[in-house]
Amino acid sequence: MRPQVVTILPTYQCTAACKECCFECTPHVKGRIPRERLMRYIDEAIESVPTLRLLVFSGGECFLLGKDLDDAIAKASAKGLRTRVVTNGYWAVSPEAASKRLQRLKDAGLDELNISSGDDHLEYVPFERVVNGLIAGAELKIVSLVSVEGFENSKFKVEDVFNHPRIRDYLAAHPGSPYLQVFKNVWMPFHQDRELEHRDATYRTPERLGLNGGCTNVLYNMVITPDESLASCCGLTMEHIPEMKLGKLGENPMAKLVDQGMNDFLKRWIWLDGPEAIMAFVHKMDPAVPLPSRNVHPCETCAQFYLNPRAREVVRQHWREVRDDVLLRYELKLQFMQERGGQLPAEALQDKQELTRLSHGDH
Ligand code: SF4
Ligand code: SF4
Repeated sequence: MRPQVVTILPTYQCTAACKECCFECTPHVKGRIPRERLMRYIDEAIESVPTLRLLVFSGGECFLLGKDLDDAIAKASAKGLRTRVVTNGYWAVSPEAASKRLQRLKDAGLDELNISSGDDHLEYVPFERVVNGLIAGAELKIVSLVSVEGFENSKFKVEDVFNHPRIRDYLAAHPGSPYLQVFKNVWMPFHQDRELEHRDATYRTPERLGLNGGCTNVLYNMVITPDESLASCCGLTMEHIPEMKLGKLGENPMAKLVDQGMNDFLKRWIWLDGPEAIMAFVHKMDPAVPLPSRNVHPCETCAQFYLNPRAREVVRQHWREVRDDVLLRYELKLQFMQERGGQLPAEALQDKQELTRLSHGDH
């Protein structure tokens, strides 16, 4: 397995302060990766990860970088990478402003624009701005998609996107256009007092990711965090799991950190079977460790595993019993993918798409 995506989170500062933001981004968070090191990390990623195909800029709010964002996209694009920005769309204050801002990114080579919206986001960014951004992006032939917070009792639904008059008109005038897309993501509660309803575990709906099967994000999508560490996934709970950070960039060559992640048995196992399977193994070995029953997202289970000293101890004691089986199936899955040009089976790809769409704070 070699990573194909690098996501740069240049800052956790954001113009919004969504209640369930997994990185707790707000306008008050200070700090960003300085321009010079941002550019250096792009070069280093290209050199250290020859399988790299896509560079994602997320956050926090990556548009706060201003011209540095355009220059970073131009650098990545000139080196042949696809590029994506993930944003809340605050900058699209009018159709003209949205067009002007996106034209600069288009000139820099931007391929994809992801805008996040939904109940929490709408407290900070009116939906009209999201629509301005989406339509301006689509008209510039940038693949533009809106990712809507998915939970059952949300007020704002995906249907509201399709029912917006300007979206409706655009879609009617451009049937089948790939340039305007709508996704529903899985909005996960980070606060115990917040009730976000999701359907029962027996349903696999857009509000609930399939919990079984390998994690298609770990080792596939490496992340450069605002504190200039390299992390081995862009999961929603990544900042809550110290082991997801491989080490500090600047103090360690990126190639060394990537190799370290690739050689981590547990991460290979998560990639292969997913955190739910590991928790099931733990539960089998020690029934006192409960199986998670109300989770809506594999990243929840992952955090519950890593933050449970007993669960970790069980794996530490018993991992050798499954080592050969896991490593054999890991190699077989890799071989399967290589034979298909790096592609995962269709179902996993669907999840991967949903997970990678979630790579912006909520996100
Ligand atoms: S979820 Fe996204 S838009 Fe909301 S505060 Fe977090 S980074 Fe900002
Ligand atoms: S399940 Fe989530 S937190 Fe765990 S490795 Fe995968 S993406 Fe990261």
